[in-house]
Amino acid sequence: SATSITSPGATATAQPLPKGVVLDKDGKPCRSCSSGAAFAAWASQAKKMKGTATATATATATTATTTTTTPPTTRKRTDCPADVETLGRSTWTLLHSIAATYPRTPTQSQQNDLTSFIRLFSKFYPCWVCAEDFQEYIEKEKIKAGSRDEFGNWLCEAHNEVNRKLGKPTFDCSRWQERWKTGWKD
Ligand code: FAD
Repeated sequence: SATSITSPGATATAQPLPKGVVLDKDGKPCRSCSSGAAFAAWASQAKKMKGTATATATATATTATTTTTTPPTTRKRTDCPADVETLGRSTWTLLHSIAATYPRTPTQSQQNDLTSFIRLFSKFYPCWVCAEDFQEYIEKEKIKAGSRDEFGNWLCEAHNEVNRKLGKPTFDCSRWQERWKTGWKD
């Protein structure tokens, strides 16, 4: 599951990782597996440690110089690599939109292609903890691609499984087309 994993020596700082930081398989913090807030906390911790190390090195090398410190930038950028939430929201948008435009009566070839696409997608999803759970889910709950409504409902249930895991409210799957195709009736 996507809980934080703490590993001594996983960061250059050797400090405990902030809550919610998930490590990648190489032991480094995984941005696309961690919440934006958790990753930002880790980045700030790492920056401070780096600053401390640099300051110590400077002080050792030059005993009689005065250092000027640049105030840290507080501007929040919006063009950063995806964290687990932005990646998730964008991906669900793509997947549900694919469901919304999938044929009502797909050919056998379209059904095979969609099934392959979901299987392959599950292998390449950038958040590895999410991907592993999703792979398990599709082993347990066979992908249903027999029609638009069948796939839309299957996907809605798959999304609800993740919602439950994260403690979020589940979505009423009888309304998936309203959310992703027709717009709300009320
Ligand atoms: P999202 O869950 O991203 O949903 C976007 C919108 O979809 C919602 O605003 C709502 O209008 C609609 N919606 C919600 N539920 C449904 C539904 N059942 N059917 C149709 N529409 C719906 N994050 C983790 O932290 N750990 C994980 O293990 C994890 N696994 C993931 C696996 C996959 C395959 C994907 C695509 C994402 C995963 N995520 C995971 C990300 C997570 O699901 C959310 O995308 C993220 O937390 C942002 O949530 P959100 O509240 O903005 O809404």
